[in-house]
Amino acid sequence: MKIEIPDYVLAVLNRLEQCGYEACVVGGSIRDAMLQKEVHDWDIATSALPGQILEAFRNEITIKTGIRHGTVTVISRGYPVEITTYRIDGAYTDGRRPEQVTFTPSLAEDLARRDFTVNAMAYHPAKGLTDPFGGRSDALRGIIRCVGNARTRFTEDALRILRALRFASVLHFQIEPETANALQQEKERLRGIAAERVREELRLLLCGENCGDILREYCTVLAVWIPELLPMVGFLQHTPYHAYDVWEHTVRTVQAIAPVPVLRFAMLLHDIGKPSTFTRDEQGRGHFYGHGAVSTEMTVKILERLKFDRRAKETITQLVKYHDIRCERSPLWIKKQLRKFGQPLFFQLLAVHKADISGQNPDLLYRLKDIDACADMAKEIICRESCFSLKQLAVNGSDLIQAGFPQGKVIGQILQFLLDAVIHEACKNEKSALLHYAAQNQRLFTET
Ligand code: ATP
Ligand code: MG
Repeated sequence: MKIEIPDYVLAVLNRLEQCGYEACVVGGSIRDAMLQKEVHDWDIATSALPGQILEAFRNEITIKTGIRHGTVTVISRGYPVEITTYRIDGAYTDGRRPEQVTFTPSLAEDLARRDFTVNAMAYHPAKGLTDPFGGRSDALRGIIRCVGNARTRFTEDALRILRALRFASVLHFQIEPETANALQQEKERLRGIAAERVREELRLLLCGENCGDILREYCTVLAVWIPELLPMVGFLQHTPYHAYDVWEHTVRTVQAIAPVPVLRFAMLLHDIGKPSTFTRDEQGRGHFYGHGAVSTEMTVKILERLKFDRRAKETITQLVKYHDIRCERSPLWIKKQLRKFGQPLFFQLLAVHKADISGQNPDLLYRLKDIDACADMAKEIICRESCFSLKQLAVNGSDLIQAGFPQGKVIGQILQFLLDAVIHEACKNEKSALLHYAAQNQRLFTET
């Protein structure tokens, strides 16, 4: 089997070999090349020790990426390439990270410390593939399987539990039964992993091509960090709007929305408040009054637990809070929403709404057309440069002050008032018209 390796990577291999060391391409790059997927980074493993790597590339830019673990990044013809010394991971005392690593001259030992068979292959342009654990066969059959004893590997490093789910989701692979059993048995160990690392794996998992099946099958694993998911499983909705239970609905909406992290997290959490707000009326129909607000509160807690940054937290929370936005095909409604949310969030909300409907009752799919029409109308409004934000208003604060309005908080109020008038077409978005309109209504702001 031949793998095309880019010239800037070959240059690094050649240089290490010229200096008398072994070097080959390893890990995810071989796996992805084999699967004819785009390779995002070509990792190199070598028998050279970190100091020797630095010395071999003394005329290039080098970055000591993780020198303690043996990793150096070299800039080769403008591209960064990570080079890691062959190593054996030391004892895992806390199930998180090896306390220490031991460098080894043996490629075989380096491959044996890797997590899954598909990640434990090496390739050299002249020597070909080194594949001691059947990674190629697993890659071609679509299987995630631990290298060695699965329980031991998950005990050593519990992050591998999420990595297994993540690769299965992204690559659309099946998890081999022994590996699947072991990760269920060891899942509680995920509690010991740093929140940031859990969040990153979760993000990749949710954006994977087959995340739907992984969510269905491994909800209990994710529930170690997000126990709030569990009550959704099998929770019947008793309403004609929904053909599925809350979890199945949730899974379908996650799969239906574009693989953008904030959108996927928003779908995962949008109905998380449903089980606790459920009531039934005399006809036996189910209701979830106020579930949006409860989902929002729960979402804030979950995102904090996972240490999301402020911006992502804000966006996801807003998307959950307003996921029930009822689209109206009217320019007035659209301009009001654009004013309230701003453009990016408004379009994201429409996407959330579409995904939500796709996971409801198939009989309601006709409603998707309304949302598309609404999005088209919004784009037209934006292209026409219709005014829906203060920035676009033909007057600003200093215009008002120059025209004799008093300085202070009231200026902001007048601007909002004028924007409202323009959106409702009570006044044209022209400077003189706006100043006149403001003057006419000045008493509204002064008689307080
Ligand atoms: P991608 O970069 O597409 O996420 P990858 O396979 O390159 O996938 P990385 O996290 O970049 O994954 O790690 C590079 C390689 O290091 C892996 O292919 C695997 O061989 C090894 N590896 C990474 N994390 C672990 C781990 N927790 N336990 C054992 N081996 C690991
Ligand atoms: Mg990688």
